[in-house]
Amino acid sequence: MPFEAIIGMEVHAHLQTGSKMFCGCRAVFGAEPNTHCCPVCLGLPGVLPVANKKAIEGVVETALALSCEVQKHSRFARKNYYYPDLPKNYQISQFDEPLSRDGYIEIDVDGATKRIRIRRVHLEEDTGKSLHAPDGTSLQDYNRCGVPLMEIVSEPEMNSPAEARAYLLALQSLLRYIGVSTASPEQGAMRCEPTVNVRDTETGEVTGLVELKNLNSFRAVHDAIAYEIERQKKALAEGAELPARETRRWNVERGMTTTMRHKESSDEYRYFPEPDLLPMALSDEWIEEVRRALPELPRARRERLVEQYGIPEYDAGVLTGTREMADYFEECTRLHADAKAAANWVMVDLMGKLNETGIPITDCKVTPEHLAKMLDMIAAGTISGKIGKQVFEDMFETGKLPDVICQERNLTLISDDEAVRAVVDEVLADSPNIVADYLGGKDRAAAALMGQIMKKTQGKVDPKLANKILREKLAAKRDEATSG
Ligand SMILES: [Zn+2]
Repeated sequence: MPFEAIIGMEVHAHLQTGSKMFCGCRAVFGAEPNTHCCPVCLGLPGVLPVANKKAIEGVVETALALSCEVQKHSRFARKNYYYPDLPKNYQISQFDEPLSRDGYIEIDVDGATKRIRIRRVHLEEDTGKSLHAPDGTSLQDYNRCGVPLMEIVSEPEMNSPAEARAYLLALQSLLRYIGVSTASPEQGAMRCEPTVNVRDTETGEVTGLVELKNLNSFRAVHDAIAYEIERQKKALAEGAELPARETRRWNVERGMTTTMRHKESSDEYRYFPEPDLLPMALSDEWIEEVRRALPELPRARRERLVEQYGIPEYDAGVLTGTREMADYFEECTRLHADAKAAANWVMVDLMGKLNETGIPITDCKVTPEHLAKMLDMIAAGTISGKIGKQVFEDMFETGKLPDVICQERNLTLISDDEAVRAVVDEVLADSPNIVADYLGGKDRAAAALMGQIMKKTQGKVDPKLANKILREKLAAKRDEATSG
């Protein structure tokens, strides 16, 4: 059956503001439960909310970075529902007049670029958190009540789990670049709810829209969508009856989705304009000010790195994965001119070690200065690339400068002409059979002799110099053999 998967994405991201959306309580992750609450965020009678300007700014920054139209006039709305983690019995959100609409983000899948349109980015407050104890009781932590939350809704324009994942990675990278959110799924600071349905491309028949919940990682999002596509495809092929709209939960242990509820329509939330808050009116000047203050965005930076340093597109993509990594690389190339060498060491050795140890780049003992200095030593022939690997390991552990490490561990290359000649002479004297092979016409024998030289010096000889001297001496021996 020819079919097409239709995937939309709703992302909720915490805004990094310090304080909550409508009160002065601190917005922190991981604090002792119910220690950051006040009458406003607990929704006690008679209190009045005051909007957090920094949160509004965060949404406008995000909207501009996503090429959205920022709405000069917007307002908050009450979304009415009861749930134990929502003590006010309503959530302050935005409904028909959101802060921004109509943007897009570009994603890369299988070497192709695709543009996914953004329907809207709006501002709301988070709810508390329910903790379910093993004995069946539920506990409420209201610290998260009122934490500023941004909702980013895409058009349903992704067609595979891989595209959905690429969308989330691109969005996460963007949010981190502009510094509005930690966008960390592990801390609940970036939560994703995809909608999935499947269309029979021959008959045009579509399945009901399914919204997926309980997805704590991008991997879970990918797997849940893949499962859901298969389930709906099967139902479509069998002509099974599916609900028109449904919310399903991902069960990570069983690797399947299960039904949660048949989705409420927005009418059931009885939205109305929030009477305790004034509508927002943003001036053109202020919006422009925010736009000007935006940093270079990941895609633009990637393109610039390719242009400016002549490194491959792939490398530029890896290096601009985070703003810190891109800053590190650029600082390195400022200090050491060979950008491709710097790119390789950052991507392979540095990222490898950071991944292995879980140390964030900001706490790494190997600074751009350290790495640049070591690259200078390799370029000057003071150490070989192979020795460089040892020096790098040592720098990563100790934070010592590369020249200090080389001195302490006696790693500097033998690059003194006399010393290298002595080693080459020794090897030639020790290997008469290989020399005879060479003189007999086997050019490969020279490589074997180089191997002996490297072995004898434990890789500490300057390979270029040693090779030059070896060739000279072999040529002399050949002349000798032919004339004699
Ligand atoms: Zn509060």
